[in-house]
Amino acid sequence: MLIDGHGRKVDYLRVSVTERCNFRCQYCMPEKPFSWVPKENLLTYEELFKFIKVCLDEGIKKVRITGGEPLLRENLDGFVKMIADYKQDIDLALTTNAYLLPKVATKLADAGLKRINVSLDSLRDEVAAKIAQKDVLKKVLQGIQAAHDAGLKIKVNCVPMKGINDDELVDILEFCKDKGYPVRFIEYMENKHANQAAKGLNSQEIQDIIKQKYSFEKLERNGSSPSQDYRLEDGYIFGIIEPHKDDFCATCNRIRLTASGVLIPCLYFEDSQSIKEAIQRNDIDKAAAILKDVLANKPEKNKWSDEDSNETSARAFYETGG
Ligand code: SAM
Repeated sequence: MLIDGHGRKVDYLRVSVTERCNFRCQYCMPEKPFSWVPKENLLTYEELFKFIKVCLDEGIKKVRITGGEPLLRENLDGFVKMIADYKQDIDLALTTNAYLLPKVATKLADAGLKRINVSLDSLRDEVAAKIAQKDVLKKVLQGIQAAHDAGLKIKVNCVPMKGINDDELVDILEFCKDKGYPVRFIEYMENKHANQAAKGLNSQEIQDIIKQKYSFEKLERNGSSPSQDYRLEDGYIFGIIEPHKDDFCATCNRIRLTASGVLIPCLYFEDSQSIKEAIQRNDIDKAAAILKDVLANKPEKNKWSDEDSNETSARAFYETGG
């Protein structure tokens, strides 16, 4: 079992397979980074898997593949299969914008993927295009349908932004409710790579909008899930991810690995260590020692709730995988 320096059990690894993305979302990567990580600097799937095995052997139970846009990396189904075949009971998931899913949803399901989280920030063509800076909605909806048809379980992520999609939160909730997909509204996390004019809605503002049409009750927090869940009167459950709340980090159970082998203990801070050299030298003991050191130094809290701080996170979501 992996325990961090603040006594938290860590059993969830998020693995980014690329920092590249085919969208330019305002809150994440509004402009292409100055330069992409050259492909030769990325860990191969085999190298990533070598480290994932270290983590699974040490007590990681859940692995999420993310990016950038993970479906941009070729043969992702082969990578999924490596992980799915290693242990039967791994909770293996993928976060994607769904744009490329129509072509690969069945392959991914056949390889052993069970669940996906899809980003869906708008149901209006022009708003989706404004956020992603590309005409994306039709393909995203086709991707969601393809995942559904392939038997994948689907959750939806939505980042509510002031003056952009805040008039659509009920529509998005109702779309998800009708389809039977849980939706989670994620408070925008301020970071230096986003469009600096972007303003997110906080949890209370999101609740106030939904309250105009629906009554709901707040549920007990569910283990280490980052989502605070709410139940509508008809039983449908939606969630809000509230990184600006003080208690958000108390049950944090996750670490993140970038596509170039950097192990990140917190989404907010820049602290990290590379496992690349150890893995490429096949020094598994060293990789395991780095993992433990990163956990020992995992920060207690992010700073999104710190109103007096002038700092904005320098971490890029497209690198850490969100
Ligand atoms: N390309 C995939 C996608 O669109 O879901 C995976 C990568 S994306 C970085 C993962 C998640 O991070 C998405 O749900 C996205 O909405 C979220 N995200 C990115 N930047 C964010 C920000 N500044 N604040 C809150 N959530 C953010």
